Amino acid sequence: MRILISILALSLAALPLSAANLQIYFIDVEGGQATLIVSPSGESMLVDAGWPGFNGRDADRIAAAAKLAGVKRIDYLLNTHYHTDHAGGIPEIAAKIPIVHYVDHGSNTETNPGAQKLAAAYDEVAAKGKRLVVKPGDKIPLRGVEIDVVAAHGAVISKPLPGAGAPNPACASIEPKREDRSENGRSVAFILKYGNFRFANMADLTWNKENELVCPNNLIGTADVYLITHHGLDISNSPAILAALQPVVAIGNNGAKKGGVPGSFQVIRNTPSVKDIWQLHYAIPAGDLNAPEQFIANPEAENCQGHYIKLTAESDGSFTITNSRNNFSKTYKR
Ligand SMILES: [Zn+2]
Ligand SMILES: [Zn+2]
Repeated sequence: MRILISILALSLAALPLSAANLQIYFIDVEGGQATLIVSPSGESMLVDAGWPGFNGRDADRIAAAAKLAGVKRIDYLLNTHYHTDHAGGIPEIAAKIPIVHYVDHGSNTETNPGAQKLAAAYDEVAAKGKRLVVKPGDKIPLRGVEIDVVAAHGAVISKPLPGAGAPNPACASIEPKREDRSENGRSVAFILKYGNFRFANMADLTWNKENELVCPNNLIGTADVYLITHHGLDISNSPAILAALQPVVAIGNNGAKKGGVPGSFQVIRNTPSVKDIWQLHYAIPAGDLNAPEQFIANPEAENCQGHYIKLTAESDGSFTITNSRNNFSKTYKR
């Protein structure tokens, strides 16, 4: 009996802390992105790392979320694109937590001195881990979930994901916007699947690229949860991609004054599948289109406390979202 108990204790000790479900922490980085995904396998992926500077503010917030999640190392750090609000914080978090793989779309494509400096700092830190360059159609091999890369470096998948590919009637009324050659349009975008649960993270992908993914046919399918693209700017969040994804919940990583513009919030509110919008921040530009206060992690414009939003998903597709500021929580059943 004693032997049996010690074998049981040993095997329990070998299990990761969060064996039961998928957890996603949406970390407030003041209008950038930092999303920590903890797979049921215990492996983790951090999508972007917020801004550099501010006394290590964003790295501290990410490290605090990692601690809560029982994450002692980041298995995959996805640098969606070379902009300061996403990649700028990577060297600072790398100094705090071991990072195994660095995933990106390849080299930086912007030529101004600031962009070159940002890319050089990233390249230097990524050289200390294993680098994984992804293209559309690739998978990011985070154990316990399936992550399909649908866009990267300005290219999109040419074949639909399994179960996707239906014509998208919302494309009929979509006009193209001006061509975007910036790093935004080169963002690594992905769909994550855990059982019946699906999460869409398009980073800062812009309008024309979004529409390439879903027009005339929807190549990416649906998603239960949609990270509002590009902080809720209206050069992203095309009505066609919302119609394709049909999310139940949209989560905004706008800052108080960055992103969160009325045009994009209106597109999301006009999408019939959307039950709720959750926001890391109250968006001053959005006015009346902001979510009710209990759905907002950081309602104050000044002296932000950096509260996060946590999502827990079950393999049947049900999920629960919690606002860490007030513990307001809501479960969405399949
Ligand atoms: Zn951004
Ligand atoms: Zn960007």
